[in-house]
Amino acid sequence: MIAHDALYIDGSWRPALGTGVIDVVNPADEQVIASVPAGSAEDVDAAVAAARAALPGWAAVPPARRGTYVAALRDQLVARRDEFVATMTAELGVPVGFARRVQTGIPIAVAGSYAELAATYAFEERIGNSAVHHEPVGVVGAITPWNYPLHQIVNKVAPALVAGCTIVLKPAEDTPLTAQLFAECVAAAELPAGVFNLVTGLGPVAGQALAEHPGVDLVSFTGSTDVGRRIGAIAGGAVKRVALELGGKSANVVLPGADLAKAVAANVADVCRNTGQSCNALTRLLVHTDQYEEAVSLAAAAVASFVPGDPTDPDVRVGPLVNAKQQARVRAYIDKGVEEGARLVTGGSAAPEGREKGYFVRPTVFADVTPEMTIAQEEIFGPVLSLIRYEDEDEAVRIANGTVYGLAAAVWAADGATAAAFARRLEAGQVEINGGGFNILAPFGGHKQSGIGRELGAHGLAEYLHTKSLQF
Ligand code: NAD
Repeated sequence: MIAHDALYIDGSWRPALGTGVIDVVNPADEQVIASVPAGSAEDVDAAVAAARAALPGWAAVPPARRGTYVAALRDQLVARRDEFVATMTAELGVPVGFARRVQTGIPIAVAGSYAELAATYAFEERIGNSAVHHEPVGVVGAITPWNYPLHQIVNKVAPALVAGCTIVLKPAEDTPLTAQLFAECVAAAELPAGVFNLVTGLGPVAGQALAEHPGVDLVSFTGSTDVGRRIGAIAGGAVKRVALELGGKSANVVLPGADLAKAVAANVADVCRNTGQSCNALTRLLVHTDQYEEAVSLAAAAVASFVPGDPTDPDVRVGPLVNAKQQARVRAYIDKGVEEGARLVTGGSAAPEGREKGYFVRPTVFADVTPEMTIAQEEIFGPVLSLIRYEDEDEAVRIANGTVYGLAAAVWAADGATAAAFARRLEAGQVEINGGGFNILAPFGGHKQSGIGRELGAHGLAEYLHTKSLQF
């Protein structure tokens, strides 16, 4: 596994100016596997200066040519896929099967989609007597989390590159090795020096310095709502563009007439995906009172097949959580659920059997959850499903919309049209209809406190462009 004792700035690996380091821990066995530099504000300065210097040249490269660079980058991701899988399994604890299928499969596809979009996107349009040019916003400060470490980097870097922006990336403390491997791919794809720069470091130090830097024109952040709020305030104060992809508490509504067994099985799989560490996880299952107890039994039975285990084992579907802090947080939420009177159907806050070492938690199902309970309102970020009862459709809409979040949702009904009609009443950026699959070209982003802005596809590209109207 690669681990650079350096930052990637202006086309080469160079020692950090700061002296601190970040230890990278394997969450399955709690062993330190590497350490990387904790970049300082001076390191961020150097990276932003490199990105600014590279901006005019990169912005002048024709979009279709920028697309060929992104295609070359995609090819590098493909060539080094096995290394990405091993790296993410080691530093995030994600099971290898999921790392291959989703954690690397989706970013490869997303990079490919932007390589194609570069050639077809209308960077110029005519409106009456105006020629409207869509130009790069400038230098992008990208701050990413650990839960989908490559996906969240590619979601920002690929469209920014196609738009003609240059980038400084500050990845999450827990998953810097994936980011370093990505920087190696950028180098191998022969992007011009300074177009992409990587500063590993602590959020409140390097992350904050990047968000505050006057040389950054757009801050694109994915992570917690608390930090997102701070970054939004910094960007607002400086009148700079900001994109925020934040948390969620997404509802899955099963309407009478739907295939209940299928809906519940899909929901349990969704909540165990990535060991529950997905911002769009469907963590609230809303079921009509007449079918409620049947749904509880189905959920309990389905969870039994998700046994936490060694993430390097291809048969394992649930690994550890990313770190001790997240483990303590998820356990505390499970205890809180019991304390507030929810019925613990399966799981609980004790370590899973035989998994005392490592940051493992038990996949957990709660029944008799009421909408005002903490576990029904706050993002837990672990494999914890709450079943909530409703009496009629209006109540289901009220409960589904009754949190500060609005990232995703799902609806199951007898037919697509009924589910879609219900989906129109939901405050969410994405709604799965009867198990509809993830679409890498559809805009992804939140309503309400789940965020500002959109990622993926043409909508994701537009985030990195601003307009200039030439009147003739
Ligand atoms: P976080 O928001 O603290 O970290 C996300 C990124 O922001 C990291 O790169 C971090 O270094 C950086 N950061 C932290 N403080 C910063 C600051 N003051 N200025 C600039 N950058 C800063 O998230 P976390 O601690 O890794 O996870 C905590 C919770 O966040 C989770 O339990 C979960 O609820 C949520 N989360 C959401 C997503 C998502 O995709 N929406 C992803 C990860 C975590």
